[in-house]
Amino acid sequence: MRSILVNNQMIHTGHLILVNRAHPIKAEPSKEELCKVMKIKDMLLQKEAANALQDLIEAVNMEKMIEAVSGYRTRFEQEEIYSSSLNSNGADFTSKFVALPGHSEHQTGLAIDLAKKQEDIDFICPDFPYDGEFAIFREQAAKYGFIERYQKGKEKITGISPEPWHFRYVGKYHASLITKQNMALEEYIEWVKQYKWNENPFIDTLEGKNVQIGYQSLMNQEDYKLLVPDESQILVSGNNVDGIVVIAYE
Ligand SMILES: [Zn+2]
Repeated sequence: MRSILVNNQMIHTGHLILVNRAHPIKAEPSKEELCKVMKIKDMLLQKEAANALQDLIEAVNMEKMIEAVSGYRTRFEQEEIYSSSLNSNGADFTSKFVALPGHSEHQTGLAIDLAKKQEDIDFICPDFPYDGEFAIFREQAAKYGFIERYQKGKEKITGISPEPWHFRYVGKYHASLITKQNMALEEYIEWVKQYKWNENPFIDTLEGKNVQIGYQSLMNQEDYKLLVPDESQILVSGNNVDGIVVIAYE
Protein backbone atom coordinates (compact mmCIF):
# COMPACT_ATOMS: atom_id res chain seq x y z
CA MET A 1 0.00 0.00 0.00
CA ARG A 2 1.00 3.61 -0.48
CA SER A 3 -0.54 6.75 0.94
CA ILE A 4 -1.93 9.86 -0.73
CA LEU A 5 -2.37 13.04 1.24
CA VAL A 6 -5.85 14.51 0.90
CA ASN A 7 -7.44 17.50 2.60
CA ASN A 8 -10.89 18.86 3.26
CA GLN A 9 -10.71 21.42 0.44
CA MET A 10 -10.95 18.46 -1.92
CA ILE A 11 -14.56 17.98 -0.74
CA HIS A 12 -15.56 20.72 -3.18
CA THR A 13 -13.64 19.75 -6.33
CA GLY A 14 -13.67 16.86 -8.79
CA HIS A 15 -15.99 15.26 -11.33
CA LEU A 16 -18.53 13.88 -8.87
CA ILE A 17 -19.43 17.05 -6.95
CA LEU A 18 -23.10 17.37 -6.12
CA VAL A 19 -24.42 20.83 -6.93
CA ASN A 20 -28.09 21.46 -6.22
CA ARG A 21 -30.41 23.64 -4.16
CA ALA A 22 -28.92 22.41 -0.87
CA HIS A 23 -25.29 22.36 -2.04
CA PRO A 24 -23.94 25.44 -3.79
CA ILE A 25 -20.79 25.34 -5.87
CA LYS A 26 -17.82 26.25 -3.66
CA ALA A 27 -14.93 26.05 -6.13
CA GLU A 28 -15.56 27.23 -9.70
CA PRO A 29 -13.18 25.91 -12.37
CA SER A 30 -10.27 28.08 -13.43
CA LYS A 31 -9.85 29.23 -17.05
CA GLU A 32 -7.02 26.71 -17.49
CA GLU A 33 -9.34 23.83 -16.62
CA LEU A 34 -11.82 24.74 -19.37
CA CYS A 35 -11.71 24.12 -23.09
CA LYS A 36 -13.91 24.50 -26.17
CA VAL A 37 -16.76 22.08 -26.81
CA MET A 38 -17.37 20.77 -30.33
CA LYS A 39 -15.10 23.53 -31.66
CA ILE A 40 -17.69 26.15 -30.71
CA LYS A 41 -16.27 29.51 -29.70
CA ASP A 42 -17.44 30.58 -26.23
CA MET A 43 -18.84 27.12 -25.41
CA LEU A 44 -16.69 25.68 -22.65
CA LEU A 45 -16.50 22.59 -20.45
CA GLN A 46 -13.84 21.14 -18.19
CA LYS A 47 -11.26 19.50 -20.47
CA GLU A 48 -11.98 15.89 -19.64
CA ALA A 49 -15.72 16.42 -20.10
CA ALA A 50 -15.23 18.28 -23.40
CA ASN A 51 -13.03 15.48 -24.77
CA ALA A 52 -15.39 12.76 -23.58
CA LEU A 53 -18.35 14.50 -25.23
CA GLN A 54 -16.44 14.80 -28.50
CA ASP A 55 -15.56 11.09 -28.35
CA LEU A 56 -19.15 10.13 -27.58
CA ILE A 57 -20.61 12.18 -30.45
CA GLU A 58 -18.05 10.75 -32.87
CA ALA A 59 -18.65 7.20 -31.63
CA VAL A 60 -22.37 7.42 -32.40
CA ASN A 61 -21.67 9.40 -35.59
CA MET A 62 -23.98 12.31 -34.74
CA GLU A 63 -21.78 15.34 -35.42
CA LYS A 64 -24.37 16.68 -37.87
CA MET A 65 -27.38 16.00 -35.66
CA ILE A 66 -26.41 17.49 -32.30
CA GLU A 67 -25.95 21.08 -31.30
CA ALA A 68 -24.49 22.20 -27.97
CA VAL A 69 -26.77 24.85 -26.46
CA SER A 70 -25.18 25.72 -23.12
CA GLY A 71 -22.03 24.54 -21.35
CA TYR A 72 -20.01 26.29 -18.66
CA ARG A 73 -21.57 29.47 -17.26
CA THR A 74 -20.01 32.01 -14.97
CA ARG A 75 -21.97 33.05 -11.92
CA PHE A 76 -22.77 36.31 -13.72
CA GLU A 77 -24.18 34.47 -16.74
CA GLN A 78 -26.32 32.29 -14.48
CA GLU A 79 -27.66 35.43 -12.77
CA GLU A 80 -28.57 36.88 -16.18
CA ILE A 81 -30.34 33.71 -17.34
CA TYR A 82 -32.19 33.48 -14.03
CA SER A 83 -33.45 37.04 -14.05
CA SER A 84 -34.36 37.04 -17.74
CA SER A 85 -36.32 33.79 -17.26
CA LEU A 86 -38.09 35.32 -14.24
CA ASN A 87 -39.10 38.27 -16.40
CA SER A 88 -40.26 36.35 -19.44
CA ASN A 89 -41.43 32.99 -18.00
CA GLY A 90 -42.43 33.79 -14.43
CA ALA A 91 -41.41 32.37 -11.06
CA ASP A 92 -43.13 28.98 -11.37
CA PHE A 93 -41.45 28.00 -14.65
CA THR A 94 -38.10 29.43 -13.57
CA SER A 95 -38.00 27.47 -10.31
CA LYS A 96 -38.62 24.26 -12.28
CA PHE A 97 -35.99 24.71 -14.97
CA VAL A 98 -33.44 27.34 -13.97
CA ALA A 99 -31.17 26.88 -10.98
CA LEU A 100 -30.43 29.75 -8.62
CA PRO A 101 -27.09 31.44 -9.22
CA GLY A 102 -24.46 29.51 -7.26
CA HIS A 103 -26.54 26.33 -7.51
CA SER A 104 -26.31 25.55 -11.22
CA GLU A 105 -24.36 22.55 -12.48
CA HIS A 106 -23.44 24.71 -15.46
CA GLN A 107 -21.12 26.70 -13.18
CA THR A 108 -19.05 23.54 -12.64
CA GLY A 109 -18.10 23.17 -16.31
CA LEU A 110 -19.29 19.57 -16.08
CA ALA A 111 -22.82 20.00 -17.52
CA ILE A 112 -24.02 20.54 -21.06
CA ASP A 113 -27.41 21.14 -22.65
CA LEU A 114 -27.76 19.44 -26.01
CA ALA A 115 -30.29 19.97 -28.78
CA LYS A 116 -31.34 18.15 -31.88
CA LYS A 117 -30.02 20.33 -34.69
CA GLN A 118 -32.93 22.20 -36.26
CA GLU A 119 -33.94 25.71 -37.17
CA ASP A 120 -35.59 26.93 -33.97
CA ILE A 121 -33.84 25.82 -30.82
CA ASP A 122 -35.36 26.63 -27.45
CA PHE A 123 -32.48 27.89 -25.30
CA ILE A 124 -33.97 26.86 -21.94
CA CYS A 125 -35.80 23.66 -22.93
CA PRO A 126 -34.16 22.34 -26.12
CA ASP A 127 -35.56 19.30 -27.88
CA PHE A 128 -33.34 16.23 -27.38
CA PRO A 129 -35.39 13.14 -28.28
CA TYR A 130 -35.44 9.64 -26.80
CA ASP A 131 -35.86 7.79 -30.10
CA GLY A 132 -33.81 6.95 -33.18
CA GLU A 133 -30.13 7.88 -33.06
CA PHE A 134 -30.76 9.83 -29.86
CA ALA A 135 -31.65 6.58 -28.09
CA ILE A 136 -28.25 5.22 -29.11
CA PHE A 137 -26.54 8.36 -27.86
CA ARG A 138 -28.28 7.89 -24.50
CA GLU A 139 -27.32 4.20 -24.35
CA GLN A 140 -23.67 5.02 -24.95
CA ALA A 141 -23.47 8.13 -22.75
CA ALA A 142 -22.47 6.38 -19.50
CA LYS A 143 -19.55 4.63 -21.21
CA TYR A 144 -18.14 8.11 -21.88
CA GLY A 145 -18.89 9.39 -18.38
CA PHE A 146 -22.21 11.19 -18.85
CA ILE A 147 -25.54 10.82 -17.05
CA GLU A 148 -28.94 12.29 -17.85
CA ARG A 149 -29.03 14.37 -14.71
CA TYR A 150 -32.72 15.31 -14.25
CA GLN A 151 -34.85 12.30 -15.08
CA LYS A 152 -38.59 11.86 -15.00
CA GLY A 153 -39.63 10.33 -11.69
CA LYS A 154 -36.72 11.88 -9.78
CA GLU A 155 -38.15 15.40 -9.47
CA LYS A 156 -38.68 15.09 -5.70
CA ILE A 157 -35.03 14.12 -5.23
CA THR A 158 -33.36 16.53 -7.65
CA GLY A 159 -35.76 19.44 -7.16
CA ILE A 160 -35.69 20.00 -10.94
CA SER A 161 -38.29 19.06 -13.57
CA PRO A 162 -37.25 16.45 -16.14
CA GLU A 163 -34.61 17.87 -18.49
CA PRO A 164 -33.98 15.36 -21.29
CA TRP A 165 -31.36 17.73 -22.75
CA HIS A 166 -29.12 18.21 -19.69
CA PHE A 167 -26.13 15.88 -19.39
CA ARG A 168 -23.63 15.82 -16.57
CA TYR A 169 -20.10 14.44 -16.71
CA VAL A 170 -19.11 12.33 -13.70
CA GLY A 171 -16.54 10.01 -15.33
CA LYS A 172 -17.23 6.56 -16.76
CA TYR A 173 -16.96 4.51 -13.53
CA HIS A 174 -19.51 6.56 -11.62
CA ALA A 175 -21.69 7.08 -14.71
CA SER A 176 -21.97 3.35 -15.37
CA LEU A 177 -22.94 2.60 -11.74
CA ILE A 178 -25.43 5.48 -11.60
CA THR A 179 -27.05 4.42 -14.88
CA LYS A 180 -27.09 0.70 -14.02
CA GLN A 181 -28.86 1.47 -10.74
CA ASN A 182 -31.16 4.13 -12.22
CA MET A 183 -30.17 6.63 -9.55
CA ALA A 184 -30.20 10.40 -9.40
CA LEU A 185 -26.80 11.84 -8.47
CA GLU A 186 -28.24 12.70 -5.04
CA GLU A 187 -29.10 9.02 -4.48
CA TYR A 188 -25.70 7.83 -5.66
CA ILE A 189 -23.83 10.20 -3.33
CA GLU A 190 -25.83 8.70 -0.41
CA TRP A 191 -25.51 5.11 -1.67
CA VAL A 192 -21.72 5.21 -1.96
CA LYS A 193 -21.36 6.32 1.69
CA GLN A 194 -22.10 2.80 2.92
CA TYR A 195 -18.84 1.67 1.24
CA LYS A 196 -16.10 3.06 3.45
CA TRP A 197 -12.83 3.26 1.54
CA ASN A 198 -10.65 1.62 4.21
CA GLU A 199 -13.21 -0.92 5.40
CA ASN A 200 -15.54 -2.24 2.75
CA PRO A 201 -15.13 -0.62 -0.67
CA PHE A 202 -17.58 -1.54 -3.42
CA ILE A 203 -15.97 -3.97 -5.87
CA ASP A 204 -16.91 -3.87 -9.53
CA THR A 205 -15.50 -4.59 -12.96
CA LEU A 206 -15.66 -2.26 -15.92
CA GLU A 207 -14.18 -2.90 -19.36
CA GLY A 208 -12.34 -5.89 -17.91
CA LYS A 209 -10.72 -3.86 -15.14
CA ASN A 210 -11.15 -4.45 -11.42
CA VAL A 211 -12.53 -1.34 -9.81
CA GLN A 212 -12.87 -0.42 -6.13
CA ILE A 213 -15.01 2.50 -5.06
CA GLY A 214 -15.27 3.89 -1.55
CA TYR A 215 -16.19 6.92 0.49
CA GLN A 216 -14.00 8.78 2.96
CA SER A 217 -15.44 11.43 5.26
CA LEU A 218 -13.23 14.50 5.58
CA MET A 219 -15.34 16.39 8.05
CA ASN A 220 -13.18 17.77 10.85
CA GLN A 221 -10.05 16.61 9.01
CA GLU A 222 -7.59 19.08 7.57
CA ASP A 223 -5.12 16.55 6.22
CA TYR A 224 -5.71 12.86 5.88
CA LYS A 225 -3.50 10.02 4.63
CA LEU A 226 -5.47 7.87 2.25
CA LEU A 227 -4.11 4.34 1.88
CA VAL A 228 -4.35 2.99 -1.67
CA PRO A 229 -3.07 -0.16 -3.42
CA ASP A 230 0.42 0.20 -4.89
CA GLU A 231 -0.31 -0.84 -8.45
CA SER A 232 -3.66 0.90 -8.95
CA GLN A 233 -4.60 4.09 -10.74
CA ILE A 234 -6.43 6.39 -8.36
CA LEU A 235 -9.21 8.89 -9.02
CA VAL A 236 -10.43 11.10 -6.21
CA SER A 237 -13.38 13.48 -6.25
CA GLY A 238 -15.15 15.43 -3.58
CA ASN A 239 -18.89 14.95 -3.14
CA ASN A 240 -19.35 18.66 -2.30
CA VAL A 241 -21.09 17.57 0.92
CA ASP A 242 -18.74 16.08 3.50
CA GLY A 243 -16.09 13.88 1.95
CA ILE A 244 -14.44 12.30 -1.06
CA VAL A 245 -15.15 9.28 -3.23
CA VAL A 246 -12.12 7.25 -4.23
CA ILE A 247 -11.78 4.94 -7.23
CA ALA A 248 -8.91 2.50 -7.65
CA TYR A 249 -8.61 0.54 -10.89
CA GLU A 250 -5.98 -1.75 -12.34
ZN1 LIG B 1 -28.65 22.43 -18.30
